[in-house]
Amino acid sequence: MAKKTIRDIQVKGKKVLIRVDFNVPLKNGVITDENRIVEALPTIKYVLDQGGRAIVFSHLGRVKDEADKAKNSLEVVAKRLSEHLKKPVIFVPVTRGKVLEDAVAQLKNGEVLMFENTRFEDLDGNKESKNHPELGKYWASLGDVFVNDAFGTAHRDAASNVGIAANIPVTVAGFLLEKEINFIGGTLENPKRPFVAILGGAKVSDKIEVIQNLLKIADKVLIGGGMAFTFFKAMGYEVGKSLLEVDKVELAKELLIQANGKIELGDDVYTGKAFDAETEKNVRHINAIPHDEMGLDIGPRTVAIFEKYIQEAKTVVWNGPLGVFEFPRFSEGTKSIALSIAGIKNQATTIIGGGDSAAAVIQFGLSDGFTHISTGGGASLEYLEGKVLPGIQCVDDK
Ligand code: ADP
Ligand code: MG
Repeated sequence: MAKKTIRDIQVKGKKVLIRVDFNVPLKNGVITDENRIVEALPTIKYVLDQGGRAIVFSHLGRVKDEADKAKNSLEVVAKRLSEHLKKPVIFVPVTRGKVLEDAVAQLKNGEVLMFENTRFEDLDGNKESKNHPELGKYWASLGDVFVNDAFGTAHRDAASNVGIAANIPVTVAGFLLEKEINFIGGTLENPKRPFVAILGGAKVSDKIEVIQNLLKIADKVLIGGGMAFTFFKAMGYEVGKSLLEVDKVELAKELLIQANGKIELGDDVYTGKAFDAETEKNVRHINAIPHDEMGLDIGPRTVAIFEKYIQEAKTVVWNGPLGVFEFPRFSEGTKSIALSIAGIKNQATTIIGGGDSAAAVIQFGLSDGFTHISTGGGASLEYLEGKVLPGIQCVDDK
């Protein structure tokens, strides 16, 4: 179902509530990656350019006690936002009350205000995270229209997304949310074929629903990473000390039958004797993994097999690194596949969903090689599972 976006409404002179995802990583009070701020700029700038009054808010980290409040204030983010916008951002250090209400009342067209971390409300009975009805209603009362642009939180039912939407006449998607809906949602709904899904990461148990959903939609499902070993075991191979989920072997067998040839696992791996960056690296055929070794990356023949499918693809969706890419020695498989996908950029839609997969590609300096790298870890995973995300569902239909 197509969703209304900010382009579909008039914001001039309106108090526009904008839920962004400014949950940025902080180290000693310094922002170490401001990608989420940068990604939110188009929506905020649009509202300001159109003469709207922007009321921006987000969660940041977890807030369980008073000490968390000091660590997770959004003030430093407001400062950075102001630098990006090249205009003042009025920071209101509370999440409710007269100070906030007065600041909102005084806000003029083209001005921007940001209030404190929505999860400060979690200190009082998890009001934000559990979507307490009173809180969404209160925040909704501060604005005329609601723009949800927080994809990273779209898989959660919070007061600051669905709670507000339920209490305000107009809810639309911002540009970032729109992009995620178009690329992930649009692709899953109507992929150009051949559609190749690539799945990796640590565990089968984390990805069961993703595998099941993509098996339904994709033409080929390439599986690597730690979770491949549960499948290899299901096929009768010995996997040595590789990551193995014994209780998921039966499920892997069922998935292989259900897949009817759609799943491709390759036939070799790089192994090491220990889960260690410096462990000696060997290449092993999957029918010859020694009992004292573990698979830490896909092997060169597997890369070649995977590449054959990727080169013909018109759509690629990738979730999960294909090896322990954090160890440079075992990052080769993940990097080769990233390069191979980057190589088809002009002929295919290529999408990465998943926090670690996105981090790997950014670490390799290959982010420009993809059509879309999702900004949501957990949210993109649930989207790939085929779930309805509450933060998207609450946006008005076109
Ligand atoms: P994403 O965040 O992209 O969804 P996951 O969280 O599922 O990905 O998995 C990422 C982790 O999987 C990485 O930390 C990586 O080291 C690990 N991993 C990949 N291959 C293996 C392997 N063969 N053995 C152990 N861990 C692996
Ligand atoms: Mg992860």
